[in-house]
Amino acid sequence: MGLMAHDFANEDVRANSRAVVPDYAITVRSLHKVYGRGEKAKTALTSIDLDIPRGAFFGLLGPNGAGKSTLINILAGLVLKTSGTARIWGYDIDTNARATRQAIGVVPQELNIDPFFTPRETLELQAGLYGVPKRSRRTDEILEAVGLSAQADSYTRTLSGGMRRRLLVAKALVHAPPIVVLDEPTAGVDVELRQQFWTYVGRLHADGTTILLTTHYLEEAERFCDRIAIINHGSLVACEATPALLTRLDSKILTISCAQDLTTLPPSLSTYGAQLFPPSRLAIRYRPSQTTVGDVLTAVQRAGLTIVDLTTEDSDLEDIFLALTKRNTDGAT
Ligand code: ADP
Ligand code: MG
Repeated sequence: MGLMAHDFANEDVRANSRAVVPDYAITVRSLHKVYGRGEKAKTALTSIDLDIPRGAFFGLLGPNGAGKSTLINILAGLVLKTSGTARIWGYDIDTNARATRQAIGVVPQELNIDPFFTPRETLELQAGLYGVPKRSRRTDEILEAVGLSAQADSYTRTLSGGMRRRLLVAKALVHAPPIVVLDEPTAGVDVELRQQFWTYVGRLHADGTTILLTTHYLEEAERFCDRIAIINHGSLVACEATPALLTRLDSKILTISCAQDLTTLPPSLSTYGAQLFPPSRLAIRYRPSQTTVGDVLTAVQRAGLTIVDLTTEDSDLEDIFLALTKRNTDGAT
C-alpha cells in the first residue's frame, strides 16, 4: 500500500467507506458561526456556501480575522458551528462525526506539539487516537516522507521550527485521510523549508489527496491552488478556478516618476484613471487584458512627460476585496 492510499486506515470506517467516492470532498451550506453571547457575541462566519471538488488543490484566501481558521476548525470538529450544514467526504459532520474525522487531517495554524514525546511516539499516540490498528500503522513510512527519519527518536523539543511544522503534517497523515487541510502552513517557516514543504504537499496532491490550504498570501494561493475562494469579514466574496479569478482581478498599477513637476494631470492620461502625486509621480491603473504597459508608456510620452523611473505592481488583497465587493453590488443592481 502506498503512503497516500486513501482507503481509511481505521478499519470500521474503511468497511463503511468502500462504496463512497464523492464528487465533492467538502460541501458547506449556509454555515454560520457566532462566538460568545450577548454583548460579547462576535460573528465569524455568515452564510458560507462552499463546494470543494474531490482531488482539488483548493485555496481559502483572506486577511487575518476573515474566518479561515473558524471554517477549518468547524470542518475538523474542533469548533461548533452555530447553524448550517457541512459534509466531508459525503458524511454529515453532525450525524456522522466519526467518519468525517477519519476523512480529514488538519495541520493547525498553531504549533502545538508535546515537547516531551519523540516524533515516533507522537505519531503512535495519534494513530491510537484515530483507532488505527498496530498492523496498519505506517509511522516509519510517514516520518521518512516528511524527512524526519533521523529525528524519529529525539525529543521534539530539540527539533527546529521547520521540523516541528513537518511533524504536524505527519500527525495529520497517520489515519491516511483523503483530505488534508493546511491552515497557514508557511507562517514563520523559512524560505528553504517552504520550498521543501511545498514539494511534499505537491506530491500528496499528485497522489490524489484533496488539499485545502488557507493563506493570506495571494502569491501562494495563485501559485499552488487550482481553485480559490476569497473570504472577508466572514463572507465568501469569490470562489472560482484560479485563472478565471485572476482575470477578474485584472488590474495592475504602474507608478511613474517624471522629470517634470506637474500641477495638473495631462487630460490624455485621465482616461487611464491616472492619479497625480505631486510634484512628479503618477499612478496609473490599467487592465492587462485590455492594455499593455507599452500602451500606457506611449500615452505618458505623448503627454510630453519624460519618464525617470517606473514600477508595476499587482493589486493587493485590499484592492481585490474592493473590486469584488463592488462588482458583486454592481451585478445585483
Ligand atoms: P482567520 O483564521 O481568517 O485569521 P479566525 O477564524 O481565526 O480568522 O477569526 C475570525 C474572527 O473570529 C476574528 O474576528 C476572531 O477574532 C474571532 N474569533 C476567533 N476565534 C475566537 C474565539 N475562540 N472566541 C471569540 N472570537 C474568536
Ligand atoms: Mg487563522
